[in-house]
Amino acid sequence: MCGIVGIYSQGPVAAELHDSLIHLQHRGQDAAGILTCDERFYTKHGLGLVREIFTVDDVVKLHGNIGIAHTRYPTAGGYNLADVQPLWIGSPRGIALAHNGNLVNYKELATEITQKKHRHLNSSIDSEVLLHLFADGLDDKNYVQDDEEAFFSIVCDAVKNIFTTATGSYSAVSVVIGKGLVAFRDPHGIRPLVLGERTNKNGSKDYIVASETTMFYALGFEPKGDIQAGEVIFVNRSGKLFRKIVQKKQFSPCIFEYVYFARPDSTLDAVSVYRSRLRMGQNLAGHWKEKYPDILPDVVIPAPFTSNTAALSFAHELGVRYSEGLYKNPFIGRTFIMPDGQQRSRSVRYKLTPQRTEIQDKKVLILDDSIVRGTTSREIVKMVREFGAKEIYFASACPPIKHPCFYGVDIPSRKELIAAHDTLEQIREFLGVDKLLYQKIDDLVEAVTRRGDHHIERPCMACMDGVYVTGNINEKTIQELEKQREKERNEF
Ligand code: SF4
Repeated sequence: MCGIVGIYSQGPVAAELHDSLIHLQHRGQDAAGILTCDERFYTKHGLGLVREIFTVDDVVKLHGNIGIAHTRYPTAGGYNLADVQPLWIGSPRGIALAHNGNLVNYKELATEITQKKHRHLNSSIDSEVLLHLFADGLDDKNYVQDDEEAFFSIVCDAVKNIFTTATGSYSAVSVVIGKGLVAFRDPHGIRPLVLGERTNKNGSKDYIVASETTMFYALGFEPKGDIQAGEVIFVNRSGKLFRKIVQKKQFSPCIFEYVYFARPDSTLDAVSVYRSRLRMGQNLAGHWKEKYPDILPDVVIPAPFTSNTAALSFAHELGVRYSEGLYKNPFIGRTFIMPDGQQRSRSVRYKLTPQRTEIQDKKVLILDDSIVRGTTSREIVKMVREFGAKEIYFASACPPIKHPCFYGVDIPSRKELIAAHDTLEQIREFLGVDKLLYQKIDDLVEAVTRRGDHHIERPCMACMDGVYVTGNINEKTIQELEKQREKERNEF
């Protein structure tokens, strides 16, 4: 999972790209980069948090009124500068790209590029392959001409070619020197991509394309809906917007965005993330009442912050007290993002402090957004027990996660997923809780799709039900991809 943003503006874009990355920081904390352009590219990349990478001087030196930026959360490649986006190449003309997602057939495509086309790939990330595929599509075309309609048609053909060649998930923003800003979203629309517009005093328009709407308000952009599955957009140098759906398949945005990843103030695919989480809490409470009609906790405590919203409505539905009985230090990153298991487990105690007044002698229900490996949840339970809880129940707003994700979220191998190999009772014992409840898949889908003028046909929930929407993933592929990811983790 990563955060991407592209801006076309009448004025310089670097500062706004920087501020956008701050608003996308929750989508990746490993590294970040900004690329702007006028007649050439200007770049600044670094490892770490956005505020650690960019100085005011850096931002001032990034000239131009078109640019793209990226904040990185690794699901492919490692922890080094060569893997930090945006990436760019000088032929044809100068094309830069930032990508959120994952190419399932990265290895085959990389082999084709390096061994058949004799090109060099300088990174270990699939985004570089995507950039080459896009550049290939523009390569043999005479787009130097000033016919912007013709250029857009060439861009659409190039992206269509990507759609038939690259399988997996990809939302991308790109800059073509001398032409403008391009963005596209894979035909299933797995990863999000939203569009915003701002009207200047002289009536001209600025545009933003981003993973989430989180920065729109701060930067003065109005949300203008989503880039559709299989859609390409192009903003030329005079600010004219072109858009076209070049290929469409079943619209299957990632449901885990609503559960965990996206910020609650985002609206993705016409569904408010905040409202969907409230509904997750409602549905989960309904399930609790069915399963445990005679058991009522004294207090519902969220594992902060992602599950706060679901815990609030869960407590409301049960008619019990919602309590922030675990205080979170906001200056430590989310544990799910930390790549190393031991580090993850240790960091829980740095990050969360239990409040004795809210816990001691109480029947506590801890509500978390999901249980991935189980190690974080177990650590939280231990802490709550140490602070004197009488009984502990655990509820997950997400159904059991049993399958790896190959579409850009770090759920890499079944070995690490507790629900892939343990029964419900074994998980309950591992966590050390008195009762354990998971959301039902249908209830999760209902929570996300109940409201909003959306066109979601069937959200991707492959990590829960094993149905991979791109259709080209079988047991053999899963084993190969699991091995590949494990190898990358061990190397970095
Ligand atoms: Fe999202 Fe899970 Fe699908 Fe991955 S497999 S894209 S995490 S729903």
